[in-house]
Amino acid sequence: MTLEERIAEIKTDKPLSQQRTRLRLIREILPSELPETLRPIWAALQKAEADVDKAWAEWDKARAAWRKALVENRGILEAWHKSICANCPWNGKEIVFET
Ligand SMILES: [Zn+2]
Repeated sequence: MTLEERIAEIKTDKPLSQQRTRLRLIREILPSELPETLRPIWAALQKAEADVDKAWAEWDKARAAWRKALVENRGILEAWHKSICANCPWNGKEIVFET
């Protein structure tokens, strides 16, 4: 959440009686303002969060590629399915049960 988002949240979600004090106290803290012992730990957290964001972006890309491949290879998949799933009542959309 950005500082601006938090300020907007205070204005919409917090009781009116608290807003003035909350808005007076809130401010952005720069990493250089942190106690020295905490700075490298904060930096490590920031790096880890950036790595997580990058990993999620890669995951999104890989998932999109997988879904595209499933559509583009439907015929191959159906033939493969037939080869590994004998007497399967799957009709291509759903399992068809005999009544
Ligand atoms: Zn099957």
